[in-house]
Amino acid sequence: MQDAILVLNAGSSSLKFSVFRVESATPLLHGQFESLTTPDSHDRALASVLERCTAQLDDNHLVAVGHRVVHGGVKFASPVRIDDALLAELEELVPLAPLHQPHNLAAIRAMSRRAPHLPQVACFDTAFHRTQPEVAQQFGLPRRFTNEGVRRYGFHGLSYEYIASILPGVDSKAAVGRTVVAHLGNGASMCALLGGKSIATTMSFTPADGLVMGTRCGDLDPGVLLYLMAKHGMNAAALEHLIYHESGLLGVSGVSGDMRELLASSDPHAAEAIDLFVYRIVRELGSLVAALGGLDALVFTGGIGENSATIRDRVCRDAAWLGGFSTHVIPTNEELMIANHTRRVLGLKGVA
Ligand code: ADP
Repeated sequence: MQDAILVLNAGSSSLKFSVFRVESATPLLHGQFESLTTPDSHDRALASVLERCTAQLDDNHLVAVGHRVVHGGVKFASPVRIDDALLAELEELVPLAPLHQPHNLAAIRAMSRRAPHLPQVACFDTAFHRTQPEVAQQFGLPRRFTNEGVRRYGFHGLSYEYIASILPGVDSKAAVGRTVVAHLGNGASMCALLGGKSIATTMSFTPADGLVMGTRCGDLDPGVLLYLMAKHGMNAAALEHLIYHESGLLGVSGVSGDMRELLASSDPHAAEAIDLFVYRIVRELGSLVAALGGLDALVFTGGIGENSATIRDRVCRDAAWLGGFSTHVIPTNEELMIANHTRRVLGLKGVA
């Protein structure tokens, strides 16, 4: 009998799962449920994950569950074992990530009901960025708002942590030096790593800041929101929909938020959206290199970063002024990072 760890990533309408054997970096099972629109459908998806585990794991049995949790606030700089007190603390962070945190917590509760014997670990997307200097985490707002948690948190932390963990084997100089990682997927952000630690990143209070993304606008003058409220009578819900779902590549192209479709399109607005995507990456790269005081390596990851040589080439060409730096493509693996954290937190043997 071999021990196995279930990794869950519960989104607003999807549930992704993977199962890792304690000794191995290759998942035994993985899959995804889409279009989960009611709490009931989420719960049924979780039940089928557990059924699949029972039916298909042969000689392996589940000993723990690791969850991706979007927000760990200021407090959580590393993964933690989940208990009732922790759940109450994570519940208090819901206002900071109302679109994601409730789904993460619902999956934890549902798992406690269905498999109360399994220990669970929360791995936070914000945690890796807690090494950033205070100056990188502050907005220029009155201190009282900073104190109540209106700060630059940063996201995609599990992806950056995974990249940082394998960078020494890929580029030993960059691993101890100055690296920028570009995680370019539907959600996209960049992170400056100094000696493998995050010192700055493009997403901030929410995953809507920074780069132009599939359907999110990225960096936006706050005055634009005031204008839209005054001129178009838009309320918080309308603005939320605009900046998360109608903007970015989709909004600029009017064609699609999917990079593959834009690259295949002959519509001039698709080309404009790609130009803007690349332009914003190169601008943010300059800013992160300023925070690092130079650049040894640029790493591409995420669906676009891993698969599109066209986008990588355009970024590298426009960043050539930075001089000599190495470039790498490293497929990210947030699930393995969560499995490894879960093993470590629970003291299970055999970290892959
Ligand atoms: P998510 O943020 O949802 O995890 P992914 O990391 O899977 O997203 O990235 C999805 C994006 O990657 C989409 O825009 C998709 O078009 C793009 N992508 C995947 N393969 C390619 C490719 N071969 N060329 C260009 N873009 C690609």
